[in-house]
Formats: sequence, C-alpha cells, structure tokens
Amino acid sequence: MNGDLRVSTLLEEIDNRTEPMKPRDRLKIPPQAMPQQDPVARGKNIQEVALGYTEEQARLEAYRCLQCKNKPCVEGCPVRIDIPAFIEQIVKGDYQESINIIKRNSLLPAVCGRVCPQEVQCQEPCTVGRSLKDVEKGVSIGRLERFVADWEREAGNTRVPPVRLETGKRVAVIGSGPAGLVAAADIRRAGHSVTIFEAFHKPGGVMVYGIPEFRLPKAIVQREIDTLTAMGVELRTNFVVGKTRKLMDLFAKDGYDAVFIGSGAGLPRFMRAEGENLVGIFSANEYLTRTNLMRAYDVGKVDTPIYRSRRVAVLGGGNVAMDSARMALRLGAEEVHIVYRRTEVEMPARNEEIEHAKEEGIQFHLLQNARRFMGDDRDCVKAMECLRYELGEPDASGRRRPIAIKGSEFVMDVDTVVVAIGNDSNPLIPRTTPDLEVNRWGNIVVEDTGKTSIDYVYAGGDIVSGAATVILAMGQGRRAAESINSLLSPVKMAGAPG
Ligand code: FAD
Ligand code: SF4
Ligand code: SF4
Repeated sequence: MNGDLRVSTLLEEIDNRTEPMKPRDRLKIPPQAMPQQDPVARGKNIQEVALGYTEEQARLEAYRCLQCKNKPCVEGCPVRIDIPAFIEQIVKGDYQESINIIKRNSLLPAVCGRVCPQEVQCQEPCTVGRSLKDVEKGVSIGRLERFVADWEREAGNTRVPPVRLETGKRVAVIGSGPAGLVAAADIRRAGHSVTIFEAFHKPGGVMVYGIPEFRLPKAIVQREIDTLTAMGVELRTNFVVGKTRKLMDLFAKDGYDAVFIGSGAGLPRFMRAEGENLVGIFSANEYLTRTNLMRAYDVGKVDTPIYRSRRVAVLGGGNVAMDSARMALRLGAEEVHIVYRRTEVEMPARNEEIEHAKEEGIQFHLLQNARRFMGDDRDCVKAMECLRYELGEPDASGRRRPIAIKGSEFVMDVDTVVVAIGNDSNPLIPRTTPDLEVNRWGNIVVEDTGKTSIDYVYAGGDIVSGAATVILAMGQGRRAAESINSLLSPVKMAGAPG
C-alpha cells in the first residue's frame, strides 16, 4: 500500500468511527512526514524544499492532538496561539476558522509555520511527544499552521484587516523585518498613520535577505507586505536612519509622534584570523544577501556578480551556516564543507536543517575550526589551516567549551570560505542617538513595555534581544505597538518630544 493510500484509508476509518477516540487511539496514529523535494534534484534548484502537507495528511496529523486541558504547547509558543483550538478546526475541516484563530495572535503564520524552531518552542512540551518519548513525534504544530495559512492564501481568502478612524498621530517604524512589520500593522490598526523606513531597497528584513528562497519563498513575505500597504502603511526604502536622517530628527524635523526601532542584528562577526581579508572569504550576511536579495542565483537574468566556487567551507553550526552551505550547493559548488568546533549535539541549527543539509551531500567536519587562511598570488583564498578540538567543561552559554588540541594542525584546500559565526547589532542608530541606552553587546535596553531610555522611542526584535527568532521579534513588535497605541491615546500626549 503506498503512503497516500495508507493516509486516505486511515483517515476514512477514523472519520467513520462512531465511538469517540480515546487518547491511546490517537497516540497510535503515525506522525505525518513532510513531503519534500528529492535531495539530488533540489540541490540544483532554488525552489522550496518542504512541499507542505496534503489536506488528508493535515487532518490525520490534527487527529493526533489530545486536546489537553492544560495546553502545555500554548506555553511554549512565544505569542500564545490557541493551538488546540486551531487544530480542532482542522479536524473538522473548517480551515477558515482555524486560520482566524491563529491570526488573533500571529500576523505571519505562513512564515512561522515554515521557520519557527518548533521543536524547542510549541512542540517541545507537547504531551504526545512526551508520551512517545520523542519530541520529533509530538504533534507537528508548525506544519499544521503552515497548512492553514497556505490554504487561506491559495483560496484567495486573505483579507485586509480593518483600520480604525484616523487619529492624526504619526509613527515612524525603523526596519521592515518581522518586528517592524508586526509593530506597523498593530499601530496602523489603531488608526495612527505609519511610515516604515527601510535601509535596503526591498522590505522584509532577514526573511527576505537572509533566509533563502528554498526555505521561505519570498512571495509569501511580499504578500504580507502588500497587506500592510493595503492598510495604508507607507514604506520608504533606501532610507538609512542615522545616515539619511537622524532618529531624533524624525520628531523634530518630520513631526512624528513616536518611533519604533526594529533594526535587527545585521552586523556580521568575523574570526579575526590571519588572511581573513583574502578574496573569496565572505561573511554569511554578504553571501546570503547577494544571493537572496540580489538574486545572484538567477544567472543570466540579474546583474549581481556571483563568485564561482568549487570547494566551499562554511564556518559555524547555526541556521545561518546551514543556509549558506545549502545555498553554495545551489550556486554550483562541487563540494561544500561545514566546519564546526563543537559536536552535532551543540549545533544551534534546527535538526531539520542539519538533516536536509546532510541529505543534500554537505560534508560535516566536527570538532575542527580554521585558524588562518592562505592565499594564492592573486590574493584569492586557496587553503585554510585548521585545528582539531575536544570538549571541556560547559561555558557561559551552557554548551561544553571547545579546547584546541595542541599539534593537531592540518590544511584544508578551499576556494571559498563563508564565515557564519554569528551577528551583532548594527551600531549606527545608537551611535547617532546619544541618549539611547545600549548594553555591553550593543543591544538597545528596553523596559517591559518595549520603551527605550528615550520617551516616545520603543524598540523590539534582534536589536533588543540579539540574534534570535522571527516569532520572538514579532512578539516584541506586538508588545511595543500596544504600548505606543496606549501612549498615543489623547489623554497621555502631553509632553511629547519635538
Ligand atoms: P531583521 O529581520 O534583521 O530586520 C531588520 C531590518 O531593519 C532590516 O531589513 C534592515 O535592513 C533594517 N535596518 C537596519 N538598520 C536600519 C537603519 N538604520 N535604517 C533603516 N532600516 C534599517 N529565525 C527563525 O525563527 N527561524 C529560522 O529558521 C531562522 N533562520 C535564519 C537564517 C538566517 C540566514 C538569518 C540571518 C537569521 C535567521 N533567523 C531565523 C533569525 C531571524 O530571521 C531574526 O531573528 C529576525 O528576522 C529578527 O527580526 P527583526 O525584525 O528584529 O530584524
Ligand atoms: Fe495537542 Fe500537544 Fe497541545 Fe496537547 S500539547 S493540546 S496534544 S498540541
Ligand atoms: Fe509554534 Fe511558532 Fe506557531 Fe507559535 S508561532 S505555534 S511557536 S510554530
């Protein structure tokens, strides 16, 4: 019996039951695997790897939910989506009601359903996974969220949220990543006029310039941005706050009543190793921005130059490293190597991304790291000297500290290196806004409300928490928007700046 037939038969049996299902019956339903592109084929194209559940798979997976009264999964979701309620509607086949429930708490379900690290958020405490002693066997909440979000979009049912009567108040939002987009939507809904200032020529933040098309199609993000503009949000691209205009001038010269900063953590960290300036060594940010935002993969159709690579090393073990390695493969590299100084257990990347990378033939070199880079007579990188490592006691991050093994040097031939060892906050806005308090990592310090050290200035997302996740950025954007909306109510407006 093939997979589709098995799913249909099982679903029919369950739908036709006359007795209510007991938890033990639900636990026997097999977890539904995500259909995906063949690993060899997908290494040569940029299309999405995960294809999404079929309707039958989604309903069968939804039947696995025990509808727990204490809802542990909801506690694991940073924006507290009513998970059992939306899943129950999938069982009933009422997908519109299901997506309506999700949208009460999340503006970007098609995005979060694809990129949320569910196994450490909503799915981690799921009773089904706990009962089966395997978190991966918990109910696939994110995949179900993606299913209903895609259903709504494909059915053409996406509606523009209603906007209250114009209040005459104006709010500037800096940055168009998830924090800025969510803040803009919530503030606009309250009837305030909103302008988003974005440094790049395209909006979307990391969802557009960082996370590759094969994990998050750009058309999905663009759809959300179109909804915002349909709500009346103004978008000004190629506008760098701190350069084009100083933050405080948005009040003094432009007459804004409040500002939200969602400028992210886009400053790449480097190894500070000898030879790191050689041609062919990129930060993951530059590498991914060139390929995603500037569509370097679309050879022949765009002018973005592409660095031809044969043997690529990617340094790091997070999602950014996996994305860079898998992108290098799609750009035509013959061999792609991930070099990471701890073991796979400590890798911060999602398990799913690690598995996908391995299936595509990316080679993993664990407990190793580059020490210096060597160039040829044209100053192009040709090799890197590496060291082997062993793990010591846990460090401040809670992960075991890697310790270099003396005399373990070896040389690895490469023609391209992508450094993906993390990002810091961009210092431009704090540097040009003297009273804005930042911590020692350069992140903006905020109160619980999202308010910064300057009145009428709020912040959220990676610029506050350091490089984190889409859903956390969204949650902080929403929290700050609530505070701004309350602040701009007529009673509280006395003493505004500018
Ligand atoms: P950003 O998305 O960084 O957006 C900030 C925006 O502000 C940018 O568009 C920037 O151009 C703009 N900006 C900056 N400075 C200025 C200025 N001075 N003036 C005007 N505009 C400015 N998270 C997940 O949940 N799951 C994943 O799978 C995942 N994968 C990732 C893969 C990569 C390659 C990267 C880099 C990150 C990934 N993340 C992932 C992290 C996630 O994307 C971020 O946590 C999230 O996008 C942060 O949102 P944000 O709105 O704070 O900032
Ligand atoms: Fe359903 Fe799991 Fe949430 Fe329980 S914890 S309600 S089984 S998704
Ligand atoms: Fe889970 Fe993320 Fe959806 Fe919340 S938003 S339910 S954490 S997938």
